[in-house]
Amino acid sequence: SVFIKKINKNLSLWAILNDKNEQSILSLVWKDERGQVSIDFEPIISDVIRNKYCDDCILSVVSTVGNADKKISSHNDVKNLSSLPPLNTEVFNNGLILRNYVDPQLLSLISIDLKPLLFIVGVFFGLIIFLFINLYIKRQLSLHSLIVKGVIRKEFIPYYQPIINVKNNRMYGCEVLVRWWFNKKELISPDDFIPYAENSGLIIDITDVLLEKTLTQLSSLNWQKSTAVISINLVPEQLENKQQIRKFVDMIIKSSISPKQIAFEITERMSFTDLDKAAIVIDYLKAQGINVKLDDAGTGYGSFSYIQHLNLQSLKIDKMFVDTIGTYDHKLFVLDSIIAFGKKAGMEMIAEGVETKQQSDYLLQSGVYLQQGFYFSEPLKFEQFRHYFQRDQAKI
Ligand code: C2E
Ligand code: CA
Ligand code: CA
Repeated sequence: SVFIKKINKNLSLWAILNDKNEQSILSLVWKDERGQVSIDFEPIISDVIRNKYCDDCILSVVSTVGNADKKISSHNDVKNLSSLPPLNTEVFNNGLILRNYVDPQLLSLISIDLKPLLFIVGVFFGLIIFLFINLYIKRQLSLHSLIVKGVIRKEFIPYYQPIINVKNNRMYGCEVLVRWWFNKKELISPDDFIPYAENSGLIIDITDVLLEKTLTQLSSLNWQKSTAVISINLVPEQLENKQQIRKFVDMIIKSSISPKQIAFEITERMSFTDLDKAAIVIDYLKAQGINVKLDDAGTGYGSFSYIQHLNLQSLKIDKMFVDTIGTYDHKLFVLDSIIAFGKKAGMEMIAEGVETKQQSDYLLQSGVYLQQGFYFSEPLKFEQFRHYFQRDQAKI
């Protein structure tokens, strides 16, 4: 019965026969999802025990349907429970009826014990979940609207991290890394907004602002007079969107920077939904002279299949692998394999996150001479990058 399922295992179940036939044996079979318990009662013995311990009895009366209204003798019903309305009644197919009687005091104990507690616990957890959901939605909504505002106010600015050709110690090019100059007061790093921007699609507008600023700033450096290449980060979704890419190409063509000096880095941390579509867009970009590099190679979704499918000729080796140089980390073998693959496929390779001379030397000896990392320079704001670029140009 419902009640019995709630009680604890120390509570007794008592059953008595209505017809007081002391020779009969009553069998109770108790089934639930966990299994089945079968209890056989010998009425005389059960009576003796019941009279001793029956403070917390549940009285279950089984009778034939026609006899259900008969009073139970006081001999069997110590607490006269059956004079109360039954807690529940079950009628069985075989003509038997089962009624359960419970001492109201016992019942109230249980309801006092559990109900308020359950209620408080329920309300407490409900409140916590509600607060969390509320906070999460508010945060996302405010982040969303703040990014939208940031785009309108053009608060997203490029930082430039040089990529060095260590063979001649000259700048091969640079990677554009976005920063959010929030309210023109606080600089926010990409980790704090790029994941949301990428998932919500707002990254498209951010890249727009970034590309426009980058082209303007680099034109002011006479970038076109150098051979240096700039890389801009895109997510696969952007590359599958030909309309968006056309817009970028138009912006580039209108600027003084040659498309040959522009490359897009496409991360393999996120998957492409339509590789064929992306391959068409990449071919279109190549026809315009714009190169596409596989970023974070080896960290995400199928580098080798992407390289093959998208006919890519450049890859960037992630910091995760560069970090293993000089250690016993098993990923060092992955680094060596990526390099071996890149060499065999005749790909251009750029290692990122190079922080030490040891790493730089190891990579150079392995044939990776295009390197980027704090060992050479951190990402620089435009004014600093201008000096860096001018110093590099002066080396000619
Ligand atoms: P990423 O494309 O892998 O860029 C390299 C990140 O490593 C940059 O972090 C850079 O500052 C950092 N880094 C470079 N060299 C070193 C080094 O030697 N040591 C250490 N510890 N870090 C180094 P950042 O600028 O914080 O950017 C983080 C990520 O945000 C980027 O990783 C990229 O996935 C994303 N991101 C940045 N700008 C854009 C953007 O314009 N569009 C998109 N979609 N993603 C962007
Ligand atoms: Ca990158
Ligand atoms: Ca990376």
